[in-house]
Amino acid sequence: MLDNKDRIFQNLYGQNSWSLGAAKKRGDWKNTKDFVKKGREWIVNEVLLSGLRGRGGAGFSTGRKWSFMPKEAPLPSYIVINADESEPGTCKDRDIIRHEPHKIIEGALYAGVAIGAHAGYIYIRGEFFREAETLQAAIDEAYKDGLLGKNAAGSGYDFDLYLHRGAGAYICGEESALLQSLEGKKGMPRLKPPFPANCGLYGCPTTVNNVETIAVVPTILRRGGTWFGGFGRPDNTGTKVFCISGHVNTPCNVEEEMGIPMKTLIEKHAGGVRGGWDNLLAVIPGGSSTPMVTQEIASDLHMDFESLSRVGTGLGTASLIVMDKSTDIVEAIVRLSHFYMHESCGQCTPCREGTGWVWRLLKKIGDGEGDLADIDKLEELTYQIEGHTICALGDAAAWPVQGLLKHFRPELERRVRLVAA
Ligand code: SF4
Repeated sequence: MLDNKDRIFQNLYGQNSWSLGAAKKRGDWKNTKDFVKKGREWIVNEVLLSGLRGRGGAGFSTGRKWSFMPKEAPLPSYIVINADESEPGTCKDRDIIRHEPHKIIEGALYAGVAIGAHAGYIYIRGEFFREAETLQAAIDEAYKDGLLGKNAAGSGYDFDLYLHRGAGAYICGEESALLQSLEGKKGMPRLKPPFPANCGLYGCPTTVNNVETIAVVPTILRRGGTWFGGFGRPDNTGTKVFCISGHVNTPCNVEEEMGIPMKTLIEKHAGGVRGGWDNLLAVIPGGSSTPMVTQEIASDLHMDFESLSRVGTGLGTASLIVMDKSTDIVEAIVRLSHFYMHESCGQCTPCREGTGWVWRLLKKIGDGEGDLADIDKLEELTYQIEGHTICALGDAAAWPVQGLLKHFRPELERRVRLVAA
């Protein structure tokens, strides 16, 4: 388990103040000027060395993403920070925003330098009202202290940071929908290519990074890319904030090494499964869009991108939803299906129509009103959606149902037969 001294987020639980004075005592904003002066290449190289992969779900190398930004562009470049955390089960960015806002602001400056941007935007979900207040107050403090704006931190680099509140739509967490919304348009995903690095905010080169990704950058620069890269497992390095919710004794957020065994995470940090490990039915490992795993799989599973992918699921946002044997597993997925149907932006047919069909069919089966052919139809439907849509919401709607069918098909059949009998 991770030593407390190696935890980047020393105030994750808010025991101390988030304010600039307290943040500086924790080491934030130390040697900022020197890091900025070391320049773009140095920052990108340190982040590449650290092996940091995006913490928003996709897991793409942050250093590589930054390196795609044009070195000399006739248009301005922008760094955009995605604080639209809306994935059910996920609540890590929220704690970072309200208890460690200066890590995000300092990280935004370094990310700006790394991609040649002199302006950054933080897009925060509308429901995070208090969090937005805290973040804005922290930005104001940073300006007052000369850490942002002209000659940021005395480095000679100009950098402005703006906070933008969304109106509360899940789809605005998708990077291109976020950019649309930031431009004042309807939050609907764009077709890719072009990718934001070529044509992003206002048609200019843009990088969109998750809150946690940005917030760990200052510590990586301070302690070194190799320090961060020394934690975790190959290709899955560093530390990560995990969210553990559901049927555990002490639900929590905790920063741990990447690749920590799921069982250790649940037992050591979340007080174990309600009623003991043997009472575990299933775990959704990476936020609600990732397929569930059963107790048998969860017993020997590491929390990293590759290990989870090998068992047919994903790390996603590293947010575990733990379900014990009292769970109506069909009803649980019916509820998630309804969520994705509701949040579909309606732009493409397989998602707009398919998510509704999936929800209705699954509900019908769950209510015992379906027949065996409906189960096959449901499965076929999920494959008609997956990979056939503009953005990943279609996949997000299909995967939880595929996970249910893979591991709990007999339960669906039992419900159908129960009524038929
Ligand atoms: Fe909109 Fe769904 Fe298509 Fe994404 S997949 S663009 S949410 S309709």
